[in-house]
Amino acid sequence: MASLFNPSRAGGGVGNLNLSRHAKRGLQVLQVPALTQFRWLVHGFSTRLGGVSPSPNSPSRLAKGNDLNLGKVPWDNPQNVEVNRRRLLSSLDAEQMNLVIPKQIHSDLIRVLTDMPRADFPLPGDGLVTNHPGLLLSIQVADCLPILLVDVRQRVVAVLHCGWRGTVRRLAQKGVGMMKLMFGSREDDLWAAIGPGIRVCCFSVGEEVAEEFEGQFHYAGQLFNHRQVTPTPLERKYPGLFKNRLKASDRPKHHDTYLDLVQANLYQLREAGISVNRIDSGAPCTRCHSELFFSHRRDDGKTGRMMGMIGIRGQ
Ligand SMILES: [Zn+2]
Repeated sequence: MASLFNPSRAGGGVGNLNLSRHAKRGLQVLQVPALTQFRWLVHGFSTRLGGVSPSPNSPSRLAKGNDLNLGKVPWDNPQNVEVNRRRLLSSLDAEQMNLVIPKQIHSDLIRVLTDMPRADFPLPGDGLVTNHPGLLLSIQVADCLPILLVDVRQRVVAVLHCGWRGTVRRLAQKGVGMMKLMFGSREDDLWAAIGPGIRVCCFSVGEEVAEEFEGQFHYAGQLFNHRQVTPTPLERKYPGLFKNRLKASDRPKHHDTYLDLVQANLYQLREAGISVNRIDSGAPCTRCHSELFFSHRRDDGKTGRMMGMIGIRGQ
């Protein structure tokens, strides 16, 4: 395995997710090198490569019809999605495991599973936790951060769907809390991996998002970047026109605000007691890397879904 990414381009981070190339049909999954030592553990973040779906927005340099779309989206048919999911499980040697797919609602709702949930009733929620072997917990993403947690001593695993809404509701922090509460997990036994998602280079947000974070976190000031907006030629020529004639909300903006979702979740995981040495946060930006990832922002919503997955192998 070799690292494919320059961490500075990926936006920094303390960890270093590696890309392990699976021989099966070019399918590629990102894994945390330190976690591959645990034979009982199945984990990974899927990429767009190695499937049978024809994405409407795939870059021209990628072969058409080979996208690994794992979500039920309007442009893809359910048979493709089934084939893609089977391929993914097979690449992880997890064909025998039950894939658990919640109904994501951008909440802080975390489900603790002791058995397989009924297939005809997907559980609403944005976090799953289990110590039950044979369940492969999953979260679907296309810019939001998928976060994996594992207690390597007691064998407890969790997956979390951390977009800005889940993050402002402290989902990552609550996920760790749930492992401590329900399974007695100790901080020294916990590892975390923040998977590929939209990073601070690309995640411009409105002032209302910044205000929600400011209301929640004393360190909110460190989570935002402000970048100067270049004025248009018309604005340069007639600066007074825009200043005086328009009401404040309609005036051209002087800066854009960018949210560092990775940093926000790093803060939460560290506050929850996980050592920085055991948090992998170096995954690349989904919006920057069209050759590897789907991105809701880049593709204007017409894109596929990737998965973050974690589970305990059955005996
Ligand atoms: Zn980016």
